[in-house]
Amino acid sequence: MICLGIESTAHTFGVGIVEDDKVLANVKDVYVPKKGGIHPREAADHHYDIAKEIVTKALETAKIKLEDVDVVAFSAGPGLPPCLKIGATVARYLALRLNIPCMPTNHCIGHIEIGKLMTGAKDPVTLYVSGGNTQVIAFTEGRYRVFGETQDQGIGNVMDHFAREAGLQHPGGPKIEALAKNGKWIELPYVVKGMDVSFSGILTNAIQKLKTEKLEDLCYSLQETCFAMLIETSERALAHTDKTEVLLTGGVAANSRLKDMLDIMCKERGAKLFAVPREFAGDCGAQIAVAGLIMHKAGAKSEDTKINRFWRTDDVEIPYI
Ligand code: AMP
Ligand code: MG
Repeated sequence: MICLGIESTAHTFGVGIVEDDKVLANVKDVYVPKKGGIHPREAADHHYDIAKEIVTKALETAKIKLEDVDVVAFSAGPGLPPCLKIGATVARYLALRLNIPCMPTNHCIGHIEIGKLMTGAKDPVTLYVSGGNTQVIAFTEGRYRVFGETQDQGIGNVMDHFAREAGLQHPGGPKIEALAKNGKWIELPYVVKGMDVSFSGILTNAIQKLKTEKLEDLCYSLQETCFAMLIETSERALAHTDKTEVLLTGGVAANSRLKDMLDIMCKERGAKLFAVPREFAGDCGAQIAVAGLIMHKAGAKSEDTKINRFWRTDDVEIPYI
């Protein structure tokens, strides 16, 4: 069975095509703001302009015809409404034209399922770290439960915002990672509240310190502090659930230092770390195609194709585990 998945929650317009658990194509184009953060309407305009080209390229890469597609899936949330609407509209059009089901798919669950598929993790505690989202997730009793999450910004946005203030170009995460290699430790606030984390105060403090401290040191310390908070909460979720696997997924999973820190924690606890490969770490169509097809095969409903900007990971009943 072939599924075409469309991702359009934020900066990325992506189309993935999967045949059962084989990824045939994963094509995307990323909107980069000229200045500042993502402007939702400009990002949506980008998605609208590029949609046809990306769908066409994905079909070519997969070496299939549009008529071969059995089910269409799209990111229905969480995300920026103008961007979500473009993906939903393209998906509805394709499904109507082909007279096939159109599966609204949760973006975060897409990150988990592509991570599991690519790494072979079976029942992990997932550390999902991306631009807009930061969550520690584990499956219990019918749902992917959120054990801890950010109370304000996603870790990726924190790094992108800090980088912007420091005059670095978007996306900031990879630039901060490179600069951090030559940095030394400076104290920044460390904010873990129960199982949740909060980054906004750390970000403010790091931006203030740009006036007095070296950029390399701030990059290093921002990474060490924020990542340590994520490791602490992931470790507690692991202890609480008694699971033996940790899955690292989302755009920030590309960061080697985060991977190394998580690996140390896993080794100390006798758990195994699975990190999603770089190509599938950031937002992409394949994550939606994979998750949408699993849902479809499990008989999930596909009539309601409305977007849901606040759709939470733990709102979704998982019929397939
Ligand atoms: P996503 O929203 O899942 O597409 O992830 C995008 C986010 O990943 C952006 O905020 C990037 O700055 C961040 N990112 C990408 N590569 C890295 C990296 N090597 N280190 C830290 N953050 C990264
Ligand atoms: Mg994402």
